Amino acid sequence: RTVYVNGDYLPEDQATVSIFDRGFLMSDGVYEVVSVLDSKLLDFGGHIVRLKRSLAELQMDNPLSDDEYLDVHRQLIEKNDITDGLVYLQVTRGNPGDRDFAFPPAGTRPTVVMFTQSNPGLADNPAAKTGWKIISVEDLRWGRRDIKTVQLLYPSLAKMEAKARGVNDAWLVEDGKVTEGTSNNAYIVKGNTIITRALSNDILHGITRAAVLRFANEAQMKVEERSFTIDEAQNADEAFVTSASAFVMPVVEIDGAAVGDGKVGAVATRLREIYLDEMRKAAV
Ligand code: PLP
Repeated sequence: RTVYVNGDYLPEDQATVSIFDRGFLMSDGVYEVVSVLDSKLLDFGGHIVRLKRSLAELQMDNPLSDDEYLDVHRQLIEKNDITDGLVYLQVTRGNPGDRDFAFPPAGTRPTVVMFTQSNPGLADNPAAKTGWKIISVEDLRWGRRDIKTVQLLYPSLAKMEAKARGVNDAWLVEDGKVTEGTSNNAYIVKGNTIITRALSNDILHGITRAAVLRFANEAQMKVEERSFTIDEAQNADEAFVTSASAFVMPVVEIDGAAVGDGKVGAVATRLREIYLDEMRKAAV
């Protein structure tokens, strides 16, 4: 595989980053994941807007222009012959030379790394037909989940807990209310109303969430942005999650209790279809 590091395209086994990089020592970095279908990028513009917001919130320099990011994404898709899959992008605060809690001096070059992951059949994920089972765990992450940082240890532990219990994912719960999934935004459906937590520092502002809510509005579905409990979710008609790589994924079981009739719901199925259709049309 050919990867990108700070301006160079290299075979992955020749790509290196300093051990003093703040991304490595302090998780001082942000990332984005953009899906690729038919060799084109889905919602690239949305992801770059969020990347710049994440960088600004951490007072980190943005090393590349929007056009340069797009060019690297496209070159990696081409060099690696990606039809379906993703492009991963990470920007860290770079290598100050010594370990220090204070930020390095102005002008320290951020580290930019990008690589592809191939995933043939991404759009036809069979899990979308059967739905995910999930568990709930306490949300023990930091308080700025709106910034897409590479500090992913807690969500990773939650994912391992889900695996150990034989299910697909975990929903994180704080003060009795669901915040989001380990790597996706969480929704329930009651009647014709789609309910999802409002945007705040408590959750990542999903790019897929924004698109799906826009499509739901356009399709005259009702949307309520508010918090909900696990109990309410277990008693809802449907549940689902959204993310750039799972798209719209139905959830059919929460902590062992079936959601609705325990089958993939009509609203989630319809939103997945609309999302994929519209995103393919607008792909770059
Ligand atoms: N919430 C969390 C914690 C995530 O890590 C992600 C994606 O990685 C999402 C939500 C979904 O965001 P997006 O739709 O932009 O992929």
